[in-house]
Amino acid sequence: MQIEDIIIIGSGPAGLAAAIYNSRADLSPLVISGVPYGGQLMLTTHVENYPGFPSIPGPELIEKMREHAKGFGTRFVDQNVESVDFRERPLKLILSNKQEVLGQAVLIATGASAVWLGLKSEQRFKNRGVSACATCDGALFREKTVAVVGGGDTAMEDAQFLTKFASKVFIIHRRDQFRASKILQKRVFANKKIEIIFNAEIVEVVGKDRVEGIKLKRSEYARSGSATPPAEIRVDGLFVAIGHKPNTEFLKGSGVEVYDKGYVYTGEKVAWENCKLAQKKDVSAYSPEFRYQTCVAGVFAAGDVADPTYRQATTAVGMGVAAALEVEKYLETLPKL
Ligand code: NAP
Repeated sequence: MQIEDIIIIGSGPAGLAAAIYNSRADLSPLVISGVPYGGQLMLTTHVENYPGFPSIPGPELIEKMREHAKGFGTRFVDQNVESVDFRERPLKLILSNKQEVLGQAVLIATGASAVWLGLKSEQRFKNRGVSACATCDGALFREKTVAVVGGGDTAMEDAQFLTKFASKVFIIHRRDQFRASKILQKRVFANKKIEIIFNAEIVEVVGKDRVEGIKLKRSEYARSGSATPPAEIRVDGLFVAIGHKPNTEFLKGSGVEVYDKGYVYTGEKVAWENCKLAQKKDVSAYSPEFRYQTCVAGVFAAGDVADPTYRQATTAVGMGVAAALEVEKYLETLPKL
C-alpha cells in the first residue's frame, strides 16, 4: 500500500496553503478535503480582509486556492476522516468510505464548526427556520422577520447580510455590548432594518411546523439597571452565530492532545508539557524547531483547529505555511523509504 509523504486533513485556508507549499516542494500532498470541502469560508459572503482581495466571496477564494494547489500537483479526496491510528508508523487514517490511507506525516487542518445554543426546540426547528449559516439560508427569508443570536463578528456580518432579504432583523445578545470589531458594529448600528435586543437569552424557539417566534428571558450576564428584553418576539427564522468549536472528535485516543473546547496543542512547551498520552519515543523525537507539531511526532496542526485566539483566514494561511515548512524539515529527518 502506498505511503504518502504528507496527508493534509482539511481543505480550508490552512490546509490549502500548506498543500500549495508542500506540492511546490514536490511532496505531492494528499488532501482529505472533508465533506463539504472548504470549511468556514464556504459560508462567508464577502471576505474583505484578505490581503490583495478588497472584497471576494469566500467560496471563490477557496476555489482559487484549490486550483492553485492542484496546479502544483496536490491530490484531493473528498471524504471525511473517521478515525486515526497514530500508534504505529506509518501513520494511518481511516476515511468515511472505510478506505485506509498511510502517511509519514499528517497535518491536521480541520478547522472549526458552529456552536449551537443547545435547546431542544432549536434542534426541532433546524432547517425549518433555525440555521447557523446566513449565507446558505438567508435568501429563504425574503420580506420576513429573522433574529440573529450572538455579539461577535459573525453575528454582525450575518445580520447585515440578512437585511438584503429580510424586512427586519433582530440581533439578540446576552450582554449590553458587542465583542465584534468596531467597523462591523458601526454598520449594524447604522442599518435601519436591524433592531438590537441586549441582555437577552433565548429560552425556546416556538412554532408549529416552522419557526414562528422565540421566547426570551433576561440574561444572567445583564448588568443591574440595564434594560429588560421582551418576553417573546415573532420571527420567521433564527440564525445562530455564537461561535465555533474545533473539529477534533476524530482524534480521540490518538495521542494528539486537545484542551479547552478541543483545540489541538502544538508548540514547544505547551505541547510537550501537556502530552500525557504521547509515547516516550515520540517525546524524545521532539525538536523545538517544530512549533506546529502536536503531541505525536510527525503529526502537525494549523489553522482554527489549533488557534483559539485569532481564527482568521489569513492567520490560518500563515499557520498552514509554517506547518508545511516544518513538515518538509521533519521528512528530511526520516530514513528514505
Ligand atoms: P465569537 O467572536 O466567539 O463570538 C461569539 C458571540 O456569541 C459572543 O458575542 C458571545 O457572547 C456569544 N455567545 C457565546 N455563547 C453563547 C451562548 N451560549 N448563548 C448566547 N450567546 C453566546 O465568534 P464569531 O463571531 O463566530 O467569531 C469567531 C472568530 O472569527 C473571531 O475571531 C472573529 O473576529 C472572526 N470573524 C471575522 C470576520 C471578519 O473579520 N470579517 C467575520 C466572522 C468571524 P459574549 O460576547 O458575551 O461572550
